[in-house]
Amino acid sequence: TSYDWEAFKASLGGIRCHDEVNYLAARSRDYFWYSPILNEQLDGIIGDLLVVPQSVEDVIAVAAAVARYKIPLTLRGGGTGNYGQCVPLEGGVIMDLTRLDKVLEITAGHVKVQAGARISRLDDAARETGQELLMYPSTRQMATIGGFIAGGSGGIGSLRHGMLRDPGNVTYLKVVTVEPTPRLIELTGDEIQKVQHAYGTNGIVVEVGLALTKATDWIHTAALFDGYGQALRFAASAQEDGLDCYLLTAVERRFSPYYTKFGKLFPADRDAVFAMVAPDEMLRFQAKAEEMGGRISFAKTKSEIRAAGLQPAYECGWNHTTLQALKVDKGWTYLQVAYPPAFDPELVERQMARYGDEIFWHHEMARMGGRIQIFALPLVRYRGKDQIYRLIAELEDTDGCTIFDPHVVTIEDGGMKEIDTAQIEFKKLADPYGLMNPGKTRGWTADMARVD
Ligand code: FAD
Repeated sequence: TSYDWEAFKASLGGIRCHDEVNYLAARSRDYFWYSPILNEQLDGIIGDLLVVPQSVEDVIAVAAAVARYKIPLTLRGGGTGNYGQCVPLEGGVIMDLTRLDKVLEITAGHVKVQAGARISRLDDAARETGQELLMYPSTRQMATIGGFIAGGSGGIGSLRHGMLRDPGNVTYLKVVTVEPTPRLIELTGDEIQKVQHAYGTNGIVVEVGLALTKATDWIHTAALFDGYGQALRFAASAQEDGLDCYLLTAVERRFSPYYTKFGKLFPADRDAVFAMVAPDEMLRFQAKAEEMGGRISFAKTKSEIRAAGLQPAYECGWNHTTLQALKVDKGWTYLQVAYPPAFDPELVERQMARYGDEIFWHHEMARMGGRIQIFALPLVRYRGKDQIYRLIAELEDTDGCTIFDPHVVTIEDGGMKEIDTAQIEFKKLADPYGLMNPGKTRGWTADMARVD
């Protein structure tokens, strides 16, 4: 489709735009290249115009203009999503929201912030008031809070506070609709689910409210074990015993060559549990590790970790483990696995024996819906699409695991499994012409679009 770009740009007034190819190419991508399947499908797709609003008024002006000219619109925060969520499948406008970065208000237990704020800046601002975020993705440094809510699910801190969608974690969203005269819609309480994890398909989130908790100066540490089963049992029992941790990640020894900064602190003959532990729990953590046959490799505050040239523990788990491996060896891809409740480490041992060198394992202790939930983001030695879908079928059918497929672009084929009708109903209000991030939800069909 060709659009009247000159008229469109003129209608934006002075809002900053770019149409240089290099610029556009870089901002039409995310971390989809973790998946060779997505890489083949998405590499080279590129938007037509990058727009960089500086204020909510600018966002409203862009929303009005794309609705008037019927141009597809893809929102972009830090661009760290893994499923091509930021790739403009039908071209059009890419809106970079990172200039909407004001922390608006911090009160006891709560922060209100613009959606484009980087999570690291937001967490640092909360820390200045003696508070911290309940959770963040391991991409804390680059990701925006709006991108996390629209594209993420949980991460570091989920061990303590559950997933993003668990009640009370996100308290408030302000959304701009994509219409010739955009409206502002405020969502609170359970209404947030209408937009959460909708991949920017049903409204532009401009403001976010989040719960905060009292800050802890977490100790970044690793306990080493002679056997992955032991490491995993330690991590699981530390969680069951309620040790106050913000992160517990079991990483098997075959990852050691990829954790290049750690050297002897994560040697090739030991399996590790990377953790963030409350300072007054460190003795209990250490005693428990020793009782279960382990030893503490290092234990440092965040500033000591930086000074020692190491990575913080939150860059040693979740999807950062995949990144560490991919930096060294491009032959890997990955899966996202949720274990059935009443976690059984023996199931993992059977999986390790079954897959040998085809899969390397690490496991994340988390909570979901108020219950303990164990995830894995295993590395898979890529041998083609058929192999990936054979593995998914085995892990689901034989082992009772649930796979959140990271090799697909739609919300439904990935984590959510089914069409969320509340999100589609909200899309009819917030994006009635179906312009937002087209192709990313199977719940929207062309006949739903308003024609005028
Ligand atoms: P983007 O990638 O820019 O956007 C994500 C989606 O949100 C897109 O569909 C976009 O259109 C939409 N969007 C962006 N801003 C808005 C807005 N204001 N309004 C509406 N829609 C919007 N994810 C986790 O959940 N947990 C993890 O631990 C985790 N670890 C990761 C580790 C690595 C190394 C990598 C590469 C990714 C990881 N991810 C993880 C995925 C991703 O980093 C996070 O989900 C992150 O929070 C996305 O934020 P972003 O600003 O980069 O979003």
